[in-house]
Amino acid sequence: MSALVVARFRNTAEVEEQGRRRMCLLKGKRLNVVVGDRVDYQELSTGQAVVEAIRERDTELTRINSAGKPEIVAANIDQIIVVVAPQPAADWFLVDRYLCAAELLAVAAAVTLNKVELHEPADLEALAAYGPIGCDTLATSARTGAGLDALRARLTERRSVLVGQSGVGKSSLLNALVPGAAERVAGLSQKSAQGRHTTSTAVLHRLPGGGELIDSPGVRDYAPFIGDARAVIGGFREFAPYPAKCRFSDCRHLQEPDCAVKDAVATGKILERRYRSFVRLTELTATLTG
Ligand code: GDP
Ligand code: ZN
Repeated sequence: MSALVVARFRNTAEVEEQGRRRMCLLKGKRLNVVVGDRVDYQELSTGQAVVEAIRERDTELTRINSAGKPEIVAANIDQIIVVVAPQPAADWFLVDRYLCAAELLAVAAAVTLNKVELHEPADLEALAAYGPIGCDTLATSARTGAGLDALRARLTERRSVLVGQSGVGKSSLLNALVPGAAERVAGLSQKSAQGRHTTSTAVLHRLPGGGELIDSPGVRDYAPFIGDARAVIGGFREFAPYPAKCRFSDCRHLQEPDCAVKDAVATGKILERRYRSFVRLTELTATLTG
């Protein structure tokens, strides 16, 4: 029997099959089942169900865990929604880092400026720079409800994750979009028999108007893992026309002379801020993978 994993706990997973949900045991540590996985499971004579195998994944959302190692946190997602807000102060480098990860995963991405009613002109201006580079933007408020219909429309027919700095309003947006989400998570924590100290619970929520949202503490403000510093440029889509025009075919677009990427920055074709994010993320990735 095959089913979709809609919640993951330490030793169990909740799976869904034709609208019916049930708990499944996970066999040992061998099967690293994550939310969004399609799995095959077997029913035991005891009535318990056991996950036997994970179907091949289309995408894997991978974060850097507290030990600095890559860890898969969700599978088969279609879209990353990056949430940013005037408070805590917007971190546009982090936004670029998520967008880079989304581009490298080949999933859709959009940026929403939440708490928009706090009206911060500098943030609206920074947000406006993303449209021209092919990234959709939204302005929302979990408090006033502004922009939520547009966000809902964006989430329909897709499996998405909301990511961003702690405090920008991801939980508030989830609760506004999925009535009862908080209650479901609380109920699941009990059912999983792991007590109240479950910190790693990842849950897939269905939106009333269609679409799915995956949420977990490990996904919400994860730092995306990028395996190779050389791959970073592929996540900055507006840079694409230039590397082929650099003098050196192995140009890293950092210190090299006659670099078409740096020329594009000098002539305003690439935003200086985006280039700085590229340099910073390239260096960071080299450190993390070196
Ligand atoms: P998370 O850490 O990203 O999940 O953020 P939370 O959803 O926990 O929100 C952090 C704080 O911001 C809470 O005090 C929320 O009430 C507040 N908040 C969330 N969305 C909005 C919003 O749209 N406007 C305002 N003014 N506050 C918000
Ligand atoms: Zn170059």
